[in-house]
Amino acid sequence: MQRFSTDSASRALIYSHRFQDFSFGQEHPFKIDRYWLAYELIGELGLLCLPGVRQIECPMAPESMLTSFHCPDYLATLKEFSADQTPRANFRYGLGDVENPVFPGVYEWSLLGCGGTVEAARLVVEEGVRVAFNLAGGYHHAHAARASGFSYLNDAVVAIQSLVDRGLRVAYVDIDAHHGDGVQEAFYSSDRVLTISLHETGDDFFPNTGFPHELGEGDGYGFSVNVPFARHSDDLIFEQAFRGVVLPMIEAFRPDVLVTQMGVDTLRTDPLSRLEMTTGTIEFATRSFCELDIPWVCLGGGGYCKVNVARSWALLWAILAGAAVPDELPPRFVSTIRKLGYDNTLLRDHPRLAQPNDFARAQGALERSLAILKRRLFPLHGIDLEAER
Ligand SMILES: [Zn+2]
Repeated sequence: MQRFSTDSASRALIYSHRFQDFSFGQEHPFKIDRYWLAYELIGELGLLCLPGVRQIECPMAPESMLTSFHCPDYLATLKEFSADQTPRANFRYGLGDVENPVFPGVYEWSLLGCGGTVEAARLVVEEGVRVAFNLAGGYHHAHAARASGFSYLNDAVVAIQSLVDRGLRVAYVDIDAHHGDGVQEAFYSSDRVLTISLHETGDDFFPNTGFPHELGEGDGYGFSVNVPFARHSDDLIFEQAFRGVVLPMIEAFRPDVLVTQMGVDTLRTDPLSRLEMTTGTIEFATRSFCELDIPWVCLGGGGYCKVNVARSWALLWAILAGAAVPDELPPRFVSTIRKLGYDNTLLRDHPRLAQPNDFARAQGALERSLAILKRRLFPLHGIDLEAER
């Protein structure tokens, strides 16, 4: 497997103006125009016309690839409902409830998200692209025959399976506030795919999975890793978990390709999670992944404050593109978001740590999780228990 190419077009941003043709509905927390807002900010910061940067129109996934994970009956139902003029629902398939509405064109919308990730994987393995970022990817909750958590098709699973079919080994790292349950489930018995998820604890938070004892089964035992965060975990907790588990596991696994889900619903001001990270965590994780120097398929994910999504993914893309950006938002973008009701003026959050009591609870929970993982997981991979990072 090649390492990063140094050619002049080695970073790809995947986006489409067609995203704007779809909507989950006015009341739904998933706002599709967050992708447009992120793309606007990336453009305002001058990060689209840089040496080594390619823009790729997001394609729809070939339907033939979907059955590598999804059940044909589920796919046929999703497609049929999507084209129907009257509202349809099938709760066994998770379709048509408040969470996963059947909106017009939901099938095509899902094919775009999946197609972007499949294309990102192809660019990385066939064209020597260093990192391909599919803004509209990372639908990590979709199951083989059930929509879940605003996810209808699991783009990461379909793309990772295409990499495994080429004989490649893949590390999937998911830093969204929610457990990457659909991806874990797909590869739970495989030693070809290492899945790592850092997320708010599933004790009382969707999808209520992702505990340290979920370590895989059969050949896959030891290749499923979960670090649940207590409420109010902050940037310091994230960094400890990342250095304590993510980096040593990737180093030991030595993947051919890295796939990451970069959900930003971990931010303190996100309306759905109770974590307290800042844009500093997004920048830290992005830099750390860059330093691994592994061909990289980078995906978006959750994030229910549109301006947080735009700011975080613009910072992420700036790091990928190797460009410095100021702390302030560009004036034209400030006036754009003001019309949407946001008063942000800063691109980066100020550093902000949790309250001492909250931090102590979060630290205790993290130490308990790390102790389980280090005892049960690290010996399987020959990781030195005494090694400190
Ligand atoms: Zn999420």
